[in-house]
Parts: sequence; structure tokens; C-alpha cells
Amino acid sequence: MQCLRCQGLLIAVQMRDMGQPPVSGWRCLLCGATTDPGIEANRASHDQPIRNRARVPGTPTAKPGISRVR
Ligand SMILES: [Zn+2]
Repeated sequence: MQCLRCQGLLIAVQMRDMGQPPVSGWRCLLCGATTDPGIEANRASHDQPIRNRARVPGTPTAKPGISRVR
């Protein structure tokens, strides 16, 4: 199985959370990304993130006065 982020090798792991029973999941050996069936179900129920949020030239910038870039 391959990592969705970096295509690295995923290994089976037991993930533990306080007060919760251990859950079988996957961890990437290269980038450390972890996933489990619950995470996959949540991911599948949402739209893909919008990758290109670049401003179109000529359109107004975000609200003036809150920019910290000088
Ligand atoms: Zn990875």
C-alpha cells in the first residue's frame, strides 16, 4: 500500500488514544503520515481541497489593514 502524500511505503500500526481501544491503521515510513478507516471515511465524505487559491491579477486583495507583510 502506498502513501497518498509521498507514495512511500505504508506499514500496519496499532494507534492508541487515551481511553479508546487501539485502532488498526497505516503509517508511512517516509513522511510519517498516519491513516485509519475512520480517517479514510471522513476523507471520502468531503470534497478534494482546492490547491490553487492564487489571486487573479487585477482583483482586489484581501481586507486592507490586516496584512503583516511589509
Ligand atoms: Zn508518505
